[in-house]
Amino acid sequence: MKRDLKKLISEMTLEEKAAMCSGKDFWRMQGVERLGIPSLMVTDGPHGLRKQVAGTDHIGILNSVPATCFPSAAGLASSWDRELIEKVGQALGEECQAEDVAVLLGPGANIKRSPLCGRNFEYFSEDPYLSSEMAAHHILGVQSQGVGTSIKHFAANNQEHRRMTSDSVVDERTLREIYLASFEGAIKKAQPWTVMCSYNKLNGAFMSENPSMLTDILKDEWGHEGFVVSDWGAVNERAEGLAAGLELEMPSSGAIGEGKILEAVRSGKLSEEKLDQAIERLLHIIFKAVDSKKHGATYDPDVHHDIARVVARESMVLLKNEDSILPLKKEGKIAVIGELAQLPRYQGGGSSHVVPTKLDDICEEMAKSAGDGVTLLYAQGYSLDDDMVNELFMKEALKHACEADVAVLFVGLPERYESEGYDRTHLHLPDNQLKLIDEVAKVQPNVVVILSNGSPVEMPWIGDVKAVLEAYLGGQAMGGAIADLLFGDANPCGKLAETFPKRLEDNPSYLYYFGEDDRVEYREGIFVGYRYYDTKKVEPLFPFGHGLSYTTFDYSDIVITQKDIRDDESVDVRLKVMNSGQRAGKEIVQLYVRDKESKVIRPEKELKGFMKVELQPGEEKTVTFTLNKRAFAYYNVELKDWHVESGVFDILIGSSSNCIVLSDSIQVQSTTNLKIKYNRNTTVGDLLSDPVTNPIITGMLSRQNPLAKSETASAEESQMMAAIMKYLPLRALLAFSGGTMTEKNIDDMLTVLNGGTVQ
Ligand code: BGC
Repeated sequence: MKRDLKKLISEMTLEEKAAMCSGKDFWRMQGVERLGIPSLMVTDGPHGLRKQVAGTDHIGILNSVPATCFPSAAGLASSWDRELIEKVGQALGEECQAEDVAVLLGPGANIKRSPLCGRNFEYFSEDPYLSSEMAAHHILGVQSQGVGTSIKHFAANNQEHRRMTSDSVVDERTLREIYLASFEGAIKKAQPWTVMCSYNKLNGAFMSENPSMLTDILKDEWGHEGFVVSDWGAVNERAEGLAAGLELEMPSSGAIGEGKILEAVRSGKLSEEKLDQAIERLLHIIFKAVDSKKHGATYDPDVHHDIARVVARESMVLLKNEDSILPLKKEGKIAVIGELAQLPRYQGGGSSHVVPTKLDDICEEMAKSAGDGVTLLYAQGYSLDDDMVNELFMKEALKHACEADVAVLFVGLPERYESEGYDRTHLHLPDNQLKLIDEVAKVQPNVVVILSNGSPVEMPWIGDVKAVLEAYLGGQAMGGAIADLLFGDANPCGKLAETFPKRLEDNPSYLYYFGEDDRVEYREGIFVGYRYYDTKKVEPLFPFGHGLSYTTFDYSDIVITQKDIRDDESVDVRLKVMNSGQRAGKEIVQLYVRDKESKVIRPEKELKGFMKVELQPGEEKTVTFTLNKRAFAYYNVELKDWHVESGVFDILIGSSSNCIVLSDSIQVQSTTNLKIKYNRNTTVGDLLSDPVTNPIITGMLSRQNPLAKSETASAEESQMMAAIMKYLPLRALLAFSGGTMTEKNIDDMLTVLNGGTVQ
């Protein structure tokens, strides 16, 4: 319905407007009843609805209404499946409609800077392109149901340690290319109704009162049309926040926030016009929600549970499968060992904690899939409550492992190891689980490990086991999904959206992570995740993009439709992929771009395209990627824009970041003329290497060259002279000219170089 929002605002009192900029209570926005402005509910969270009806809290302690718990983002992203994530979003949107929730607080688009971040399970990836694509399709799915989203936590909120006061110190290029890019793509593509600003400071300014981020970049540059909401309790100074572009403070601060806004408007520190602009953004979304409300909406929890099962199995990643031990045969004895098979860890702790509509029993699901030919022998193996080895549990586990044909070990991180609110301090599994793997592998050659964790673990035992399935925090239907994959009723098709390092110390942020008190310097810069491992040639345990299947895929026939383009043109890259095995399967084809030669420091390669393709045995499909300027560009801080350097770029097609199967190259021509201001310290070499300035400096040196090659110089001497010349600033020509050159000669040349004329 069309409404005159400006007129409505003119009918509001100053007090009503100030009050609307803070919450009514913990989960509801402030309405104005007399003007027909309703009070809407917003609530967590990214992978399931956490609608609290009795008590309220923001860390997931008190109960909420039952809702479907889908895999958390770490798993969702490993599906690399845009459509699937959209489907999850649609289901979440349906549940919100049924529960009268207007905005779902998610998805989280923060980059996984370190595997230690306690909240990594809620984030998608270490790569901004993958993360932004996943976030965009989550948003599109939820919003297709007339329910808003809140992409969070904007921005550079990459640790839980001191999360409400820490200051992320990030250089501009890194911020743009890594941390903001993850939000930028999603915001431009999917227009989330709201953006949640994070708790932390960014380069000295709280995100809740950061005009350059909340207004200049988010609203003006990226064109965000909705409103910004604070993370719960992130507001520092309310009036400064409003002026910076923070429209809504959550939760309610009593009358504090409202009072500060009133005081600022009355004293002239904040213009009423600024307040009106904020109200207009709030009203725009409030009425969008009103217009898209589906009264009497319901959903079928069983249907959503089935979706959760499909999503879980598409998200799990088969990391290792020696001797093709998986899929398991549906016969013989299988030892199922580990308390995590009884008490599955299917979601993370904190504000995203959901009360599921139901929860799969892993052993039951395995028994159903295995059928009558299989005997399952369960042993607890260890306790999740502490890390101590329990001899009785161990004895029982080893007995079953000896008796069985294969041992399936359920291990992972207990809830106390990772959660919102704090970070991990190491990447180890608990000692009792490590000992269990070790002992079982001594008595049973066929060990399959199922991992439940929100973020990577070290695997010193990887050589002792035959298979590893990374199940992440797979949601309420995780049990069924594991059974489907173990027994081959489904084929694994997830790939890692993050690198698994061999050891924590290999991670690029290792030396600086947590920072010093509140100062956290992102000194590794753009070298996050595989950008670092691949460039530095540090071999990971499992690379970004890695994941096995029960079938095999062959790649062929890469074609770049144009081999020479300008950076304002787009180009298609085509290739063929074929299922060369015996089972139907899905392959995630990845496209990386490498700048062959660059003046700026760039990663070895960067992900710029991906596609999940379903193939029957023997089937072949053509995959097409379209690349545009952004695929070749870096962020140029002087231009304050994305810039492509003219030159050759490699197009690399991989089945993971370090398994490149096809490649070709393309020439890209920049259309931006970088305006360089030449000065007395510009070097001769720089002028010689630029085709525009080369004739000018060559001309001058042919007339007056203090270091001219002598007729009698040897080849080595000439080489040395050329090298010295290359790094010589123009001013130094004077010193070596023996009085033959003057300051005026240099000034005249600079005039010509900078586009002027000399009389
Ligand atoms: C979290 C947010 C969450 C909010 C409301 C905060 O602690 O950081 O992600 O949406 O609480 O529960």
